[in-house]
Amino acid sequence: MSTPQVTNGNGKGTHHATFEKRSPVTGERLADFHITTEAEVRASVARARSAFESWKQTTLARRIELLMRIKEVVKTHGEEYARRISEDTGKPLVDSLLTELMSVPLFLDYYKHEAARVLGRHKVPGSILFPGKTSYVEHFPIGVIAIISPWNFPLQLSMVPIMSALIAGNTVMLKPSEVTPITGEILREIFQRIGLPTGVVEVIQGDGSTGAALAEADVDKIFFTGSVATGRKVMAAAAKKPIPVELELGGKDAFIVCADANLERAARACAWGGLVNCGQMCTSVERIFVEAKVYDRFVELLTREVEKVTVGGPDEHADMGPMTMSRQIEIVERHVADAIDKGAKILLGGRRLDRPGQFYAPTLLTDVRVDMDIYRDETFGPVLPVVKVESADQAVRMANEHQYGLVGSVFTSDVKKGIAIASKMECGQVNVNDVVVSVGNPALPFGGVKNSGFGRYHGPEGLLAFSHQKAIMVDRGYFDTEPFWFPYKNKYEGMREVFHGLVGGSTMKVVRGFLKLRQNG
Ligand code: NAD
Repeated sequence: MSTPQVTNGNGKGTHHATFEKRSPVTGERLADFHITTEAEVRASVARARSAFESWKQTTLARRIELLMRIKEVVKTHGEEYARRISEDTGKPLVDSLLTELMSVPLFLDYYKHEAARVLGRHKVPGSILFPGKTSYVEHFPIGVIAIISPWNFPLQLSMVPIMSALIAGNTVMLKPSEVTPITGEILREIFQRIGLPTGVVEVIQGDGSTGAALAEADVDKIFFTGSVATGRKVMAAAAKKPIPVELELGGKDAFIVCADANLERAARACAWGGLVNCGQMCTSVERIFVEAKVYDRFVELLTREVEKVTVGGPDEHADMGPMTMSRQIEIVERHVADAIDKGAKILLGGRRLDRPGQFYAPTLLTDVRVDMDIYRDETFGPVLPVVKVESADQAVRMANEHQYGLVGSVFTSDVKKGIAIASKMECGQVNVNDVVVSVGNPALPFGGVKNSGFGRYHGPEGLLAFSHQKAIMVDRGYFDTEPFWFPYKNKYEGMREVFHGLVGGSTMKVVRGFLKLRQNG
């Protein structure tokens, strides 16, 4: 069991409470972690606030130079960190490098080249109403950002928003998940190692109550990644002040296989997209729609691919590890039992593995219907539910008629048709003839619609998410007055002409109207 057990460290109230971390691979106790108290949270936020004053004055070039040191730290300690992340989560070492640590160079290099362009002041078009004036947009940091993160990609889903917020000039309060506190300590270590001034990044450990204390504290924005239920609570806390919130929530991603697809590639993509990280991804393949014409062949190929998937702890170099959180296995079991009860067929898996730790077999389900929990709710486990559809249009309709909309995939040998289907899908990202990978391109905005949340990060949006915009309009001082300032006496005729010129699309009329207005004061 790796679900943290909260214990009272000194038996004198909650002040020195700790929680324990167990290995998802063996079930043994690994360490105890201190739960940051409410008073400590407030003190930490005060440090972040006072650091903000000088961090926002630090030039963008200097902020980036300091943050580029993270790359050096990861170059030296990355493989050790990968082992510790795998110990924390149970994920294969390959995944700790690919899906966690690789985000550091990818996003730093991207923002190193893009940040000045995105955040710098830029000129925008003027308005016909205001000739002789110049308009600009510029950005400034929001302040102290609370980043509350989940356990499934505990490094990446903290690191990317932290780096983005810091580059944009904010300071950060990080509350990593209590399920993966070892990675929380890695993050603390990385920021200590690069030598940022005190308070620029504060890491607090603890469970939901620590997260709630942070959401109630004196922060200026909350960037939350996690479940819909917690997202609602975070938003309610933010609404009291009010402060902005960004919610990156769950998913039930659709994977559409058209009759003309390369079925071998689609089957391999489907197995990886649904089972990588043991299916514990907001962007996991969780609903597979296959056109009837190729349904039997695709299921046959997918069965073959899933059969090949090996399961084991990080040291076994298997494809798939255990589930990171013990409670999540119970959700998977409940969803599978409900599906079987309602008529789904298990082709593979559908059970825990008979070994210590939190292992669940890669599972393939067919004959899945919309009234099943496995179709309606996020499963977040190694289960591939397949649905037969009559056409790609039906698949798109079903994909869209759902509470979630995060990422989708479509497989077809006709790329034009693939892009057309992608355009019809109601979600934040779509991969054509691929799966999940769009998340890994730092230039592409990431985020969801409907219950998958709102707001975008990654790409330019990743810096804008942590910035206020400011509009500036400059008058060059050619006139002492403006035609629409007081007095209004004798100005109606001129204003009428400007109005009708604008709505009627006549620039001449607008100019004439302006001249009349000027003549009258
Ligand atoms: P969770 O909502 O249980 O916890 C997320 C974080 O919120 C944790 O750090 C937790 O301690 C904290 N928290 C709990 N109660 C809180 C409260 N009242 N106030 C403030 N913080 C509180 O989610 P989880 O189980 O850690 O993560 C799994 C979920 O996250 C899944 O639904 C998954 O789809 C989603 N997720 C979304 C994305 C995305 O980018 N859209 C990425 C990964 C995971």
